[in-house]
Amino acid sequence: MPIFEYTCLKCAHRFEKLQKSSTVASPECPECGSLDVRKELSAFSSAVSSSSAAGAAGCFSGG
Ligand SMILES: [Zn+2]
Repeated sequence: MPIFEYTCLKCAHRFEKLQKSSTVASPECPECGSLDVRKELSAFSSAVSSSSAAGAAGCFSGG
């Protein structure tokens, strides 16, 4: 699900919103409740790929 970033034009509060579809009305600011928000064009960050595999040190000790 894509996350869109919005900036409130009233209080300049920035927030993110999960949108199922791209054809949806602009959300309201969670801070002041204003509908005067602007959609920010933020490139998709590579927050999905996370290759942080630790060293393969398998040492089984049968007990
Ligand atoms: Zn606001």
